[in-house]
Amino acid sequence: RRERDLKDMQELAQQIADFDSKGVTSFGELPISKFTAIGLKKSHFTTLTDIQKASIPLALKGRDILGAAKTGSGKTLAFLVPLLETLYRNQWTQHDGLGALVISPTRELAIQIFDVLRKIGRAHSFSAGLVIGGKDVQVERDRISRLNILVCTPGRMLQHMDQAAGFEMGNLKLLVLDEADRILDMGFRKTIDAIIQHLPKNRQTLLFSATQTKSVADLARLSLSPSAAEYISAHEAA
Ligand code: ADP
Ligand code: MG
Repeated sequence: RRERDLKDMQELAQQIADFDSKGVTSFGELPISKFTAIGLKKSHFTTLTDIQKASIPLALKGRDILGAAKTGSGKTLAFLVPLLETLYRNQWTQHDGLGALVISPTRELAIQIFDVLRKIGRAHSFSAGLVIGGKDVQVERDRISRLNILVCTPGRMLQHMDQAAGFEMGNLKLLVLDEADRILDMGFRKTIDAIIQHLPKNRQTLLFSATQTKSVADLARLSLSPSAAEYISAHEAA
């Protein structure tokens, strides 16, 4: 099984390298694993929105992204599909620890992201959890150490990083900053800076925002790899 998986993975990597996103309209055309494809299909997602068309192919190729598109344009799948695929192609298992971190400004939004992740990730075997406070820190911490994917709010995440000596972030492949404009509006700039200090530098970063402001551009400069980042702005009629 492991050998067949490896072959699938190598084929997928080649398909991604060869992939030309011009004219792509549906999830079925993307070079993604059958596991994510099943999750999307069972969740009744078929056609890509503009921001998904623009960002998913580049994110699959490993690029950093600053994606700006208004509320309701489908930014969640624009980062959750690449997230699942990154862990899949790295053959991530329970033993590899935290592979992807999604930071959201509010508990409500974090819960929404987590629900979408559970739906489209249903055929994968990654472990995922929410870190949004409201529970005992110690209980939360014990659970976190076994998870592959975390969806969190900034304050609670930093609290864990500062308090837990053995909090292992060294393997992290992907950071997502969702609703970056709201994160900054809520005064989390320093918290995000501090979280980023804990993360490995050779990760991929996807940053999404409903609006493009100077402070979002500043955050992008700090968190994205300047040489490899793509700046995408999708304005779609709602
Ligand atoms: P944003 O984060 O840009 O505000 P969301 O990711 O929350 O947008 O998506 C907004 C709504 O559009 C959600 O109800 C979501 O289920 C739906 N949606 C997202 N992508 C698609 C798609 N490709 N096809 C159909 N509906 C979609
Ligand atoms: Mg959103």
